[in-house]
Amino acid sequence: MFKRYHIQAKEAPHAFKRPNKFSVKVHKTKFVPMIINDLAKAKNSSELSQTIKSRPCIYGVYGSLVGGMAPIEDKCRGCFRCVIENPGVVDVTINPEFEKAGDSYFRPNLVATIWEEASNGKVPVKGAGYRGPFAGPGFDGMWTDFSEIVRPTRDGIHGREFISTEVDIGRKNTVFNGRANNIKSIQLPIIFDTPIGIDAKVIKEAAKKTGLLAVVALRDLRGLEENVVPRASNGEIGKIDNGYRIIEMEVDSVEGYMEAKAALPGKIVIARVIANGNDAFIADLAKHADSIHLVHDFHGFELSKNPRFIIDSTIAAHEALVDAKIRDELSLIVGGGIAAAEHVPKTIICGADIVSIDIAALVALQCKFNGQATQTLPSLNKFRAEWGTQRLVNLLASWYDQLLEISGAMGMREIRRMRGELGRAMFYEDLETEVFEPIFGKRKTAEKLVAK
Ligand code: SF4
Repeated sequence: MFKRYHIQAKEAPHAFKRPNKFSVKVHKTKFVPMIINDLAKAKNSSELSQTIKSRPCIYGVYGSLVGGMAPIEDKCRGCFRCVIENPGVVDVTINPEFEKAGDSYFRPNLVATIWEEASNGKVPVKGAGYRGPFAGPGFDGMWTDFSEIVRPTRDGIHGREFISTEVDIGRKNTVFNGRANNIKSIQLPIIFDTPIGIDAKVIKEAAKKTGLLAVVALRDLRGLEENVVPRASNGEIGKIDNGYRIIEMEVDSVEGYMEAKAALPGKIVIARVIANGNDAFIADLAKHADSIHLVHDFHGFELSKNPRFIIDSTIAAHEALVDAKIRDELSLIVGGGIAAAEHVPKTIICGADIVSIDIAALVALQCKFNGQATQTLPSLNKFRAEWGTQRLVNLLASWYDQLLEISGAMGMREIRRMRGELGRAMFYEDLETEVFEPIFGKRKTAEKLVAK
């Protein structure tokens, strides 16, 4: 019987103290007289209790025995109710410690969102509404079409409406040749790409629990493991267990790939390629490869002199395959810089079939950033394997729900149809050039103004 794909989320609260986004300061010199005044005015204890309850924090920040004398900052959501209702008595500000979480790309807000998603597996809700800018660098300059969000017949993504998020890895025949395709289907267009040097135990376990895949360096594997894709170089082919069905080979030439493919008969061989602006090489390789895994640095940039961001390099790779008329024959996996649930559909819209996540998994495990992730890998504290696995399962559950939300809002019934649908997205830079430049002229950037 058909069973809808489901990821079982379970509470996995933070195991390590993390700075809360908001800092709550109660000015005792104004707070104490306010309380004394309340005490004096109250005719009886129930009236006093009513007065105190009339200005509570619904999140329990003032819920300790001594109330406002010792606010529980960790619970503050920044709704500013207490500030508005008691001007001058309470200040709610951004915690400077919070600002230090993450690095220049994995910004504190992204890190805190992943923490929340990993702790409960739910879609994060920003109760006080969005107060930030509407465009920014990278993925923040790309907006997706939500035109179907108000479709009256929308039946709810968890109801009768079914949205398929199944994708395939491997090479497909586009004309019938009597042979079955050698492909592997997974239920979510996300795989783990374990950074080298990280203990992959919980990542492998999470992949197993969700039926997804984890790419792990061969040197970090001991024998055959379920839901794992060993990552190897041509020199390591002899060490790969024959039980693996999918293998990822690090290649930098078509010949290198062909050699690996010949040495691994019957296997799905993914070509792991470093994104460096060589779109022609990708198109050449795609004529032979079962699948290509295009890898960027941990901040989503190519490793070249003039690096493009993952958005541009994915569009270029996708278009190179379309021009070569082989786009439907193989799957394109793209990774590096995936730091939020929305980055998954955005990368797919740019042309990826599947997205790989790396540092985001470590953030879910409450890693510690040691500077920029592109230079020094974040480090992990010691934790229980069960907790770590559940955190990653929760992260996937939350991202799966958000993928369904965005697919439903775009009116997509199948994630495969989202691939390369650039017409369903808008880019801030294009809008500036096409819409505003003819009216207001070129935008003056801060540097240009300084130069003047
Ligand atoms: S800002 Fe909102 S959440 Fe924070 S302490 Fe005040 S009332 Fe509570």
